[in-house]
Amino acid sequence: MKINWFPGHMTKALRMIEVELKLADIIFYCLDARAPMSSLNPSLQKLFGNKPFVFILNKIDLADEKITKQWQEYFNKIGTCVLVHATKTNSAKVLQTTAMKICDEKLKRQKEKGITKPIRAIVVGVPNSGKSTIINNLCGRGAAITGNKPGVTRGKQWVRVSPGFEVLDTPGTLWPDFEVQAVGENLALVGSIKDDVVNLEELVIVLKNRIGAAPLEARYGASDIEAIAKKRGFLLSGGVPDIARATKTVVDDFRSGKLGLFTLEQPK
Ligand code: GDP
Repeated sequence: MKINWFPGHMTKALRMIEVELKLADIIFYCLDARAPMSSLNPSLQKLFGNKPFVFILNKIDLADEKITKQWQEYFNKIGTCVLVHATKTNSAKVLQTTAMKICDEKLKRQKEKGITKPIRAIVVGVPNSGKSTIINNLCGRGAAITGNKPGVTRGKQWVRVSPGFEVLDTPGTLWPDFEVQAVGENLALVGSIKDDVVNLEELVIVLKNRIGAAPLEARYGASDIEAIAKKRGFLLSGGVPDIARATKTVVDDFRSGKLGLFTLEQPK
């Protein structure tokens, strides 16, 4: 499936991140647990320099638990990897402890010099991976605006979690890796690429190839999109099946875990 997203829009975001990164002590690299590899962004990673970073596998409640463990092992070999379910109260708190631990030496050095500066963590990652939700979770209040829409631009502001810890949300960034088609497909499936640049009917076929027909059969009593539309009573005038509505339903049901818990890729 060919997806045309607009990397130009991402350049601005990357530039902003580059500036803000200079102020950060640590990077929270937010990945969607259902597509961790596809969530990686080499052009973003280039900006990390020598800053410490933590891989966050977020939305673990929607992913296959066994494969999540495999991914955690995989990322732990490269750095530190933390599992998060950001919509669950206090689930992201572990990130503060992790950041403080990683920045322990820095804190000690600062203390020796009599400097009292908070540790600053910048949250980066693909759109819709849960960056704002993680910040809200850390703050325990509605400090950042969240929405289930990729690429929503938000004002940038360091948010104080505690006197010694601050976080910054950043706009989502994508990497147009056109060579690997599956990357774009996975990102579209998890909602990181806007639906209006995706052919949803084709996306349902991709989904069926990834997870098989059984989960669709189980939920709708059919796996063919026309049959699903009929079973659901999604009909246009003259009894024509409403394919658009059926495809949207299937994609939404996958994204919200109603078709089951799936991870779209496994560590090699
Ligand atoms: P951002 O674009 O990376 O800032 O993503 P948001 O924080 O706006 O989250 C996108 C959508 O994913 C929102 O509808 C969130 O409620 C949802 N979301 C975030 N984290 C989780 C999670 O751990 N589990 C589930 N099920 N949904 C999540």
